[in-house]
Amino acid sequence: MKKTQSKYAMLSVEDALQITLAQSRPLSPVALPLSQARGAILASDITAREPLPPFPASTKDGYAVVAADGPGEYPLIGEISAGALADFTVEPGTVAYITTGAPLPEGADAVVMIEETERFENGQAAATVRINCSVQPGADVRPVGIDVIEGQTVLAAGERLDSAEFGLLATAGFVEAPVYPRPKVAVLSTGDELIEPGEPLGPGQIRDSNRAMLLAAIDAAGGQPVDLGISGDSQAALESRIQEGLAQADILISSGGVSMGELDLVQPLLEHAGTVHFGRVRMKPGKPITFATADYKGKRRLVFGLPGNPVSSLVTFYLFAVPALRKMAGWRNPGLRRVQASLAHQLPLDAFRPEYHRATLRWDDERSCFIAASTGSQASSRLLSMRTANALLALPQREGTLAAGESVDALLIGEI
Ligand code: AMP
Ligand code: MG
Repeated sequence: MKKTQSKYAMLSVEDALQITLAQSRPLSPVALPLSQARGAILASDITAREPLPPFPASTKDGYAVVAADGPGEYPLIGEISAGALADFTVEPGTVAYITTGAPLPEGADAVVMIEETERFENGQAAATVRINCSVQPGADVRPVGIDVIEGQTVLAAGERLDSAEFGLLATAGFVEAPVYPRPKVAVLSTGDELIEPGEPLGPGQIRDSNRAMLLAAIDAAGGQPVDLGISGDSQAALESRIQEGLAQADILISSGGVSMGELDLVQPLLEHAGTVHFGRVRMKPGKPITFATADYKGKRRLVFGLPGNPVSSLVTFYLFAVPALRKMAGWRNPGLRRVQASLAHQLPLDAFRPEYHRATLRWDDERSCFIAASTGSQASSRLLSMRTANALLALPQREGTLAAGESVDALLIGEI
């Protein structure tokens, strides 16, 4: 019997996303070398093992002094540079040369910067230094622990690692970071019409654009992409690729084969392999997005059956797969970031489905708000509508249009 109606209930985007996130769990934490942990989420707090600085340190090149001595000319009794300890004491009435970052010698309690001094070489006799200003005890000295005290939590579980965080990990003596691993995400293109991009087109064929696009999007979202190639529309071929994906990756993403055609075999195969949680979402583009979970040797796998049209594929990837991937990667707040933007021009609305309109946001200095400009024709096959798009405008389902200047919700999918 031919199918003419989807058996799946039509969910709202919000409900579908909630179901997706409820099925997504953070992966078990691992220890990663710092060089491999950029963008990862910390799985436990990091505490400082020592104070920083661990010794009172000079903040200037100059002279270590006893502050109470005040201005005057004093014998120079030694030099101390960063990385060494003085083997002398600065007695009242003497000074020692000191560089930035060097430990303050015994006896000294302040530093006078070199610009406020004059040095005299006295032949055979010891050099002297004239101090031209008076300083308070502690001047130009960083006391022990002024930046970080011993035992202080310098990073908290849930924080995302970037440049400053690596500096803090290194300061705390960590060469590995306890983090959630990057989820492995396998990508499979489906369709008898698809060929590899490098091949000449035969009759009825098109090049597979979705795979290159999704592999890049996975990498950008912090996943580890796994390429499963192209599968033809045969049950046996699809089934073996799906099993391969479940074996290799935490998340399996297929594109194509979820429409209502006779060769749209992905949904029944996912039902066979696991549990399909939804197979239709009220949205434009991307209505037939399908989400399933499966167990592979006791491990939970997420499966997204994305629609084949390239735009539908990428939009549903951002709306559902990115938050799931982030949750697996330990993000506490895995949803796409949402901002308000003012429309640069009028936009048509869809009476039947909320639309995710591709747009380019830019900040307007004069008006102090984001301005959203449409990327043009929004056909779900027209990938050019995603070019330069850094946001999906969440347009309400209703008749009519939104006027230029109206405010809309924009979900960020790229840098502004
Ligand atoms: P489907 O969901 O398989 O019915 O595909 C919907 C439309 O998307 C068809 O026009 C397909 O040819 C096209 N399509 C499917 N997969 C890809 C792909 N990987 N790259 C480019 N176009 C695709
Ligand atoms: Mg197809």
